[in-house]
Amino acid sequence: MNNHVSVLEISKNALEYNLQYFKDKLHQKTKILAVVKAFGYGSDANEVAYFLKDKVDYFAVAYAHEGISLRNAKIPTPILVLHPQIQNFDEIIRNQLEPTIYNLKTLNAFITKAKEKEIEYYPIHLKFNTGLNRLGFSKVNIPKIMAIICNSKHVKIKSIFSHLAASEDSNERQFTLNQIQNFKDIITQVYDHIEYTPMAHTLNTSGVINYPEAQFDMVRIGIGLYGFGNNKKETSQLKNTHILKSIISQIHIAKKGETVGYNRAFKAFKDTIIATIPIGHADGLSRKLGKGNGYITIQNRSAPIIGNVCMDMIMVDITNIECNEGDPVFIFKTQEDILNISSMTETISYEILTLISQRIKRSLI
Ligand SMILES: *Cc1c(COP(=O)(O)O)cnc(C)c1O
Repeated sequence: MNNHVSVLEISKNALEYNLQYFKDKLHQKTKILAVVKAFGYGSDANEVAYFLKDKVDYFAVAYAHEGISLRNAKIPTPILVLHPQIQNFDEIIRNQLEPTIYNLKTLNAFITKAKEKEIEYYPIHLKFNTGLNRLGFSKVNIPKIMAIICNSKHVKIKSIFSHLAASEDSNERQFTLNQIQNFKDIITQVYDHIEYTPMAHTLNTSGVINYPEAQFDMVRIGIGLYGFGNNKKETSQLKNTHILKSIISQIHIAKKGETVGYNRAFKAFKDTIIATIPIGHADGLSRKLGKGNGYITIQNRSAPIIGNVCMDMIMVDITNIECNEGDPVFIFKTQEDILNISSMTETISYEILTLISQRIKRSLI
């Protein structure tokens, strides 16, 4: 049992609210794929997916084992594996996960596997590179891919998709519009080779916000579900899903001249009241937040983190806060707290959420 008192609460109410916010921006028939990779952006993928299973059409994970975990948690919804590996194709099929096929090597290997298992028309998703240069077939591959697929009864294209490189960045609008146009050409060419019509999708969260005209049949929403849009205004429309809480383990008075923590990094220039909190860099709290750079919230007031962040603990200055040992504290409670941590540690909200280590207990509320 994990009775470590630091806990990451995930708000069902906020997840549902955020999902509805995006549904309202889309056509009624546009399908929603909820991205729950990386433990549901650091939350709890199984619990989040279980909660959303009847509210969305699809889930996506990055790797096969993440999809297997969802199946073990009794999630029946279709699951797209964004970055499957050939060595996992057996497990992918056994768990009815749907692979992204992104090059000829994965295409041929998957068909060979499906044939070996005497499977017909296994759903696959073709990913095209339209400018991100990460995973995906190029447009020039189409005749070759389609010849292989049309000659096989073992697979069937369930969707065609691409991923935008800078959908959040208005300075890259022309680049993004080119990616979308490129994707449209790809869809047309693929459709020309087959009698059926696979779904098409290319928008992530900020794609939905900035390019709703390119929603096609489905959109893939990750960070937006967890409360972040691509700017302050959009984020303010969403609700925060991740709340990281802890308690005060101990309170000390550091007398003038005393120091606090490793390397004696904090020196008290006056008598200072400090609280020790059981969360540290091993829990995902960056050492960059030490030495007064970061804060936590106690009784709705900011308590600066003083000295160095330890592996399992931090010390905070509570000189001006009325509080006691055992009182609750928030490492972050609002999107603003998370964005402040992101900017202080020179990263983005995605990384702050996914960094919260598995030592921290998760609780859906
Ligand atoms: C992670 C991911 C998404 C979700 O992106 P957000 O910006 O979090 O909405 C969508 N599509 C692909 C291919 C991804 O890897």
